[in-house]
Amino acid sequence: METILITGAAGQLGSELTLALANMHGGDRIIATDINEASACKFDYCRFMPLDVMDRQKMAEIVKTETVTQIYHLAAILSATSEKNPIFAWNLNMESLLSILEIAKEQKLNKIYWPSSIAVFGPNTPMQNTPQDCVMDPNTVYGISKQAGERWCAYYFEKYGVDVRSLRYPGLIGYKSMPGGGTTDYAVDIFHKAIEGEDFECFLSEDTYLPMMYMDDAIKATLDLMHAPAEQIKVRSSYNLGGISFSPKEIHECIKQHYPNFNISYKPDFRQEIADTWPDSIDDSAAQNDWGWQHSFGLEEMTKDILANLPAYLV
Ligand code: NAD
Repeated sequence: METILITGAAGQLGSELTLALANMHGGDRIIATDINEASACKFDYCRFMPLDVMDRQKMAEIVKTETVTQIYHLAAILSATSEKNPIFAWNLNMESLLSILEIAKEQKLNKIYWPSSIAVFGPNTPMQNTPQDCVMDPNTVYGISKQAGERWCAYYFEKYGVDVRSLRYPGLIGYKSMPGGGTTDYAVDIFHKAIEGEDFECFLSEDTYLPMMYMDDAIKATLDLMHAPAEQIKVRSSYNLGGISFSPKEIHECIKQHYPNFNISYKPDFRQEIADTWPDSIDDSAAQNDWGWQHSFGLEEMTKDILANLPAYLV
């Protein structure tokens, strides 16, 4: 029986992944942790412990005393926030990953999950249908930390046999919690404005295409990857993961079919520069071939689902 610890569980991804893991393994097998102690109230269906991932000793103690067998390490500083405080972001993103890989090695954990990102790509990466293996020259501190993290994951697998698995998520879009400072956050915010009857000012230009994914697909991909037999996991850095690719103009048009009076204006800021170095779309054939990945939600299905369900979360 597995005991699963999740770091950064109160974030946009963690809020949904923790629930999915509890549904699968039982809430008593799940230990949600986050630096934000006030988020404990979100986790009435499983256990919660406050944990700063920079505190390696405390983390190692929890893993030992609770006989943790798997860690999902989600705590990180995201792309836009990292650019405002690069050294802090580098230290947090790298030190926490290395602590977890060391704990996994020393305490012989069964599996580790750690998310990478399309931010590992850079200005010289092929933009269309970006391949699994290609030039990667990230020029954001977040992207540099994810690329270095991927190499560390592959290193711990090859040298020490740590079963660490990873996905390069595109921008994640969900309605159950707010995003945490990424370059694709506009694609969540836009739904809130439409439903609240307000105009939307977009921080990216109208034709900026980025790879995106509905949260349901991201959760499914994560669980599929983590439950695949080890011999099927051939990529030990991080798998490309494709979903949908759209521009602000396209998502606005899609929402307008449901909210005809919804207006958008464009005021690109520093996040435009980050977006300009990221791919337009992703080739995820390695994930398809190795462990059978297939996404379900297109732009229209996602839009319908969010517009149907988000109002209940805004009450
Ligand atoms: P988020 O910002 O919404 O959540 C991060 C969580 O980590 C927060 O609850 C925060 O309180 C917690 N945290 C911050 N510092 C901490 C610390 N020192 N100790 C413990 N907890 C701390 O982020 P998210 O969107 O849920 O992202 C989760 C992971 O997925 C990250 O590794 C991120 O890089 C990756 N990812 C996310 C996206 C996306 O679009 N959301 C895309 C690609 C990759």
